[in-house]
Amino acid sequence: MFKDARLVRPVPAIIYLMKIYNTLTRQKEPFEPKIPGKVSMYVCGPTVYNYIHVGNARTFLSFDVIRRYLAYSGFDVTFVQNITDVDDKIIARAAQEERSPEDVAQFYTDAFIAEMRAVGVQDPDVRPKATQMIPEMVSLIQQLIESNHAYETDQGDVYFAVRSFAQYGKLSGRDVDDLLHGVRKDIDDSKRDPLDFALWKAAKPGEPSWDSPWGAGRPGWHIECSAMSDAELGIPFDIHGGGVDLVFPHHENEIAQTEAATGTPMAHYWMHGGMLQTSGEKMSKSLGNFMLLHDLLKDFEPNVIRLLMLQTHYRSPLDFSDTRLHEAATSLHRIQTLIDRAASTLERARNPATWRKRTRQMFPTPSSTLLQSAYVKANSEFRAEMNDDFNTAGAVACLFDLIRQMNSFLDQATGADAARPDGATGDGPTLDEDEILALRSAYDTLVQLFGVLGIVLAPTAAIAISPQAEALLQQRGDARAAKDWARADQIRDELDALGFEVKDTPQGPQLVAK
Ligand code: AMP
Ligand code: ZN
Repeated sequence: MFKDARLVRPVPAIIYLMKIYNTLTRQKEPFEPKIPGKVSMYVCGPTVYNYIHVGNARTFLSFDVIRRYLAYSGFDVTFVQNITDVDDKIIARAAQEERSPEDVAQFYTDAFIAEMRAVGVQDPDVRPKATQMIPEMVSLIQQLIESNHAYETDQGDVYFAVRSFAQYGKLSGRDVDDLLHGVRKDIDDSKRDPLDFALWKAAKPGEPSWDSPWGAGRPGWHIECSAMSDAELGIPFDIHGGGVDLVFPHHENEIAQTEAATGTPMAHYWMHGGMLQTSGEKMSKSLGNFMLLHDLLKDFEPNVIRLLMLQTHYRSPLDFSDTRLHEAATSLHRIQTLIDRAASTLERARNPATWRKRTRQMFPTPSSTLLQSAYVKANSEFRAEMNDDFNTAGAVACLFDLIRQMNSFLDQATGADAARPDGATGDGPTLDEDEILALRSAYDTLVQLFGVLGIVLAPTAAIAISPQAEALLQQRGDARAAKDWARADQIRDELDALGFEVKDTPQGPQLVAK
């Protein structure tokens, strides 16, 4: 909103060192992408058999912030997220709802995309669907059979031979012999080893299936990600992400498949998000303690949900509760109040007649110097926190510190009015030119850095809503209640002509200045 070219801050040309915790090596490592300046990133997507819950959303929001920060740091990021649209759970859901599995998968894929957009998660660059990459999966399975890492059974299933891959367990730190104790051997199991897992499942009547060298069937879950990540990014790619519950067996198996077939590492950095919990327990569909994201969105703004998530480091468990939601709503309100306050002060300062003349021209006023150092500090500390394995909690704390300092700057500017030697008066704070410049830069810093975290801030309303517009909004509500859609549309046009847009929000229709 403030476009004065003189006021644009130069981007500091400092190379910041970024560190990422790598599950594979169990330590924070300097981030060095395969190709300097570029980042290739794959994050496991949902299995589309239901609406996603808030726990799933946490993982997707975390990786959205990580991706945004990488892009902000100057990397050209390619972000791939798959959709698992063939799976036992989808087939079970379809049977339950008497729909086809394709219908179920399409419905929940659309819902997932809409909900991700609603919470401001950026679309991936590529969103491959498992069912569209069957040939790639078949060819990877063939490679594994040819290199004796997989075998076909009499029933037309194909299994990965876990013991054929010496490094099995390297991601999760598990020992193959220990694993064996936890596995039950079914008497009629056609697997050679109880640890082996399915790469291809022979078709059962009525289930979706594809032709393959082993007869009709469908892929196992793990092979999907091995095939899709290679097809879209090529191995090794830089970052592979997901929730920590995917470390074993999903990611361990992805590594085994890809690396056994190719002899090449699959990904350099394995990043895992902590679980969202309620009352100390992981939120999950199977435990029944879940809240669906689209239900939460009926009561809370996306920014509240995001702010709540940001206040915990992405690798730590996050306790989700009503209390924490309300605390986040209060924090967001504090941010919004400051934004409105600063924006209206700056709006007023567009008129030079309101500027306070400085008594001593040579030196900037102490308050402007103080605010300037506050936003410079916020900027560099924000980066330092984010470069330390994306510490969003620390980054948000830096921004709240800046908010505190901006508030005290504004308090001081307002309070000092009466006592000012230049006798300036007016209905708002009077600032001199340096103070305006400092406030504008602090405001831009705050908006920009919250934007990096995916929290888009703007003044509540750029212009006051006229009584005429309010009356029209009321009439539109009445027309809609009476199902008089033509009149409702007509009123929408009239509001449009007055410069307002009607937004339907969870709190009801609201006017927004265009
Ligand atoms: P799924 O559809 O179960 O494969 O889950 C999709 C994503 O959500 C995966 O990255 C999981 O790790 C993640 N996820 C599932 N439950 C939770 C939870 N309670 N907290 C955080 N992430 C979760
Ligand atoms: Zn995956």
